[in-house]
Amino acid sequence: MQSLTAALAARKQQQLYRVRQTLQGAQGTEVRIDGRVYLSFCSNDYLGLAGDPRLVEALKEGADRFGVGSGAAHLVSGHSYAHQALEDDLAAFTGRPRVLLFSTGYMANLGVVSALVDRHGQVFEDRLNHASLVDAAVLSRARLVRYPHNDMVRLQSKLSAAGKGTRLVASDGVFSMDGDCAPVAELARLATEQDAWLLVDDAHGLGVLGEQGRGWFLDQLPAVPDNALLMATLGKGLGTFGAFVAGSEALIETLIQQARTFIYTTAPPPAIAWASRTALQLVREGDHLRTRLQERVQYFRAGARELGLPLMVSGTPIQPLLVGDAGAALRLSECLRARGLLVTAIRPPTVPEGTARLRITLSAAHETVQIDRLLDSLAACLEGDSLAAR
Ligand SMILES: *Cc1c(COP(=O)(O)O)cnc(C)c1O
Repeated sequence: MQSLTAALAARKQQQLYRVRQTLQGAQGTEVRIDGRVYLSFCSNDYLGLAGDPRLVEALKEGADRFGVGSGAAHLVSGHSYAHQALEDDLAAFTGRPRVLLFSTGYMANLGVVSALVDRHGQVFEDRLNHASLVDAAVLSRARLVRYPHNDMVRLQSKLSAAGKGTRLVASDGVFSMDGDCAPVAELARLATEQDAWLLVDDAHGLGVLGEQGRGWFLDQLPAVPDNALLMATLGKGLGTFGAFVAGSEALIETLIQQARTFIYTTAPPPAIAWASRTALQLVREGDHLRTRLQERVQYFRAGARELGLPLMVSGTPIQPLLVGDAGAALRLSECLRARGLLVTAIRPPTVPEGTARLRITLSAAHETVQIDRLLDSLAACLEGDSLAAR
């Protein structure tokens, strides 16, 4: 017990301690915490759908029809019409032969990688991949090989040097903490050439990028080869909860037989799947939301550039400001908070050492006056901090 307390104290000392904020109402551009309303720039609810009344209505209808708990795993008796209908909708939406729902994106990544690769295989991952993809490789017991961010030359040389056994390349589609995108077409070409699987995690692309919001993966790879798998989540752009994998008939059947995070867990509440069907419909018809979101991104970037803020190379709603030092990132986040703005400081180990940042995310629901307020506050806080540091 002593050592836990000491480790926690050390973590605080290093400015790496994390705490939760308790939201008193719905997710949105304005959230209430401890009775105070904050302007929020840190959710992944990019289209502003999480609190949409049409989704709330669909969830209620789903609960009326299907109850609350699914009561069992999918393979026992927990697979409901709501789940099946959502899988069918997602297959039609992605244009892939079949789709399999998972409870979360984290579980989907663990399930896919460990179903396809065993301890004789190798998993190749971008240095900046999401933690769930890294954990997936560890769980599979395959050899984990990391390559420098988006470096296709290095990936190619590592792939061609690889030994026998199944090989799988895994990459974020849109990198969650940086907002830039993976060269999906090039990844697919390399994977195909090397007879490897490719798994692209489009958690931050689905709903946000591409025609009808189909995401970065399908935008870059209109003709998907069967060795390329799409994983995407429903808890971000779609505003609901859950995740899915899309692929060939044989792939999905294999996952049903072998993906342990699919088999040994209770199916998610069917009403959530029911609400996700409505969310998918809103995403499909959501060109106006995506246009508005892109306008907000450009508006923020232009303002930040004018202020000389340390923008990163990102055209997506993830617009981090690179700070470097964890303590400085935390101070900036706290200064914004004192001014009524919520922006999280992202620190190691979520991002590499020395690259702590403010992860600003924009939503189609943000008004430009709210972005003005963010820019003004950023300027004031940075000014104050550099004065204090002198
Ligand atoms: C959020 C996220 C996940 C996990 O998805 P959940 O449904 O929240 O478990 C996986 N991959 C990436 C890139 C993510 O950003």
